[in-house]
Amino acid sequence: MKFDYIVVGAGSAGCAVASRLSENGRFTVALIEAGGRDTYPWIHIPIGYFRTMGNPKTDWCYQTEADLGLNGRAIKWPRGKVLGGSSSINGLLYVRGQQEDFNHWAQLGNRGWGWQDVLPYFRKSEHWQGEGHEDRGQGGPLNVAENQVERDVISVWIEAAVAAGYPRNSDYNAGDQEGVGHFQMTIKNGRRCSAAVAYLNPVRGRKTLAIFTKCMTLGLIMDGKTVTGIKARHKGRLIEIKANREVVLSAGAIGSPQILMTSGIGDPAELKQHGIAIIHQLDGVGKNLQDHLQARPVYKCTSGSINTDSRNPIKLVGMALEYALRRTGPMAMAASLGTGFLKSDPALDRPDIQFHIQPFSADNPADGPHRFSAFTASVLQLRPESTGHIKLTSASMDDYPEIHPNYLSTKTDCDTLVRGIKIARKICNTDPVKAMITAEFNPGPAIADDDDAAILDWARSHSTTIYHPTGTCKMGQDNMAVVDERLNVRGLRGIRVADASIMPMITSGNTNAPAIMIGEKAAAMMLEDAV
Ligand SMILES: Cc1cc2nc3c(=O)[nH]c(=O)nc-3n(C[C@H](O)[C@H](O)[C@H](O)COP(=O)(O)OP(=O)(O)OC[C@H]3O[C@@H](n4cnc5c(N)ncnc54)[C@H](O)[C@@H]3O)c2cc1C
Repeated sequence: MKFDYIVVGAGSAGCAVASRLSENGRFTVALIEAGGRDTYPWIHIPIGYFRTMGNPKTDWCYQTEADLGLNGRAIKWPRGKVLGGSSSINGLLYVRGQQEDFNHWAQLGNRGWGWQDVLPYFRKSEHWQGEGHEDRGQGGPLNVAENQVERDVISVWIEAAVAAGYPRNSDYNAGDQEGVGHFQMTIKNGRRCSAAVAYLNPVRGRKTLAIFTKCMTLGLIMDGKTVTGIKARHKGRLIEIKANREVVLSAGAIGSPQILMTSGIGDPAELKQHGIAIIHQLDGVGKNLQDHLQARPVYKCTSGSINTDSRNPIKLVGMALEYALRRTGPMAMAASLGTGFLKSDPALDRPDIQFHIQPFSADNPADGPHRFSAFTASVLQLRPESTGHIKLTSASMDDYPEIHPNYLSTKTDCDTLVRGIKIARKICNTDPVKAMITAEFNPGPAIADDDDAAILDWARSHSTTIYHPTGTCKMGQDNMAVVDERLNVRGLRGIRVADASIMPMITSGNTNAPAIMIGEKAAAMMLEDAV
């Protein structure tokens, strides 16, 4: 089998890359996905993330190694394994990040990645249904909607945040992120708009695009320093697929570095441990791992929570009917409804923490809700300094690598998260939300607000990922960079990486929209280079 381009991984970025490359009809494209088709109904019902996360039908079900920063805990790390990748199982929240994030990427030497350079690709990808603004896109494949699900505890939290002195922001994606408001969502008519729904469904009959599902990429085929194709296992059979032009790795922040390393591209010391022949030294592969860690303060409240509703069979039937008839109600709900991008210290020039306000609570979001009425005021640090790494456990793609996030390993990260938790408490101690709260369940009254060490210890013992791993094939010019600013793997020919792994620094917010933007920009650069 031979195609002009092979795209490995049909996730947020890969769907955009494959769809755009095959669009003009000049080039043939093979899109290779380890997971199956997105036929599982819960993928498409927004609340279904409770059924897709931790489910091997749709999730790789990774787990981290024991992390010192989490008081030695190992935590679950879901990643989508299905057409659409993580965009098929994510929380549907649409956040571009801050302009300064991308300007910083450009300052690091990545020409073409400043805010004004990437904005056209954010706009090209989206169809924004909310109020018009020159930075927002119209007519793109990815439907972005304003929140349609009202729960009083959310609007009351937003009012309390404003009363506590934080600004209101009706569109955090229109230039200035700072403030509190409702999340925007990748939802269309009450159904999930994953990257597969957005970019693949409309072009399923396209003759220049072949989609291989249940096709696990096992390694790259090399001719010297040129990548000429991939080896894969397709529905149990070993196959080789050749690329006339290029292979693009869009296998995500774990998959892309693992494919490079098992193919002999990485840190020689690490590859040798597993008997992998070294094809090309690139010490940064799998390093520079960044993620957002969320601390989850929980407040018992008098109304607005879906914890109790979701355990009441009569209310459940009502929710199902409301969704079936009108595509609204709790089943059409994204993972969080309210948000806030705030400064943990007023002296800062831009927000450094983000809130996810959820009308439910759980010890772990994947484990189902608490039995009492409560909401969660999750808080995270937007730009953590802590970096971790991915480490092979064998030369085989079938063996999961070790994941070492190395959370909360710098003082700035610890201090910022503690300040964020205190702001969560401050807002929840302000009316009108204060009047709805009956008790602080977590961290709980035993942890005093002036005891930073106890707050940090609680955060280490209870925080969890908010599912944003990035940076493991980072773009840049320094010795640890894996790709250059055109996403070519440095020192090799015929191979690029285009997914969340290329971020030199994690963006200030949820990472789906930036991953899709990276896919759009990668395809545009490849078409420019395809003379
Ligand atoms: C549970 C969860 C909730 C999240 N919530 C949000 C949210 O609300 N908002 C937001 O903005 N972001 C959210 N994110 C993060 C966001 O979805 C990801 O950052 C984004 O999808 C990453 O895109 P990607 O293209 O880098 O990788 P992915 O979308 O993960 O795609 C990688 C694809 O490659 C495939 N693959 C991997 N290895 C191989 C192989 N060897 N052969 C073939 N195929 C392979 C995978 O199966 C997958 O389909 C969430 C993520 C998760 C998991």
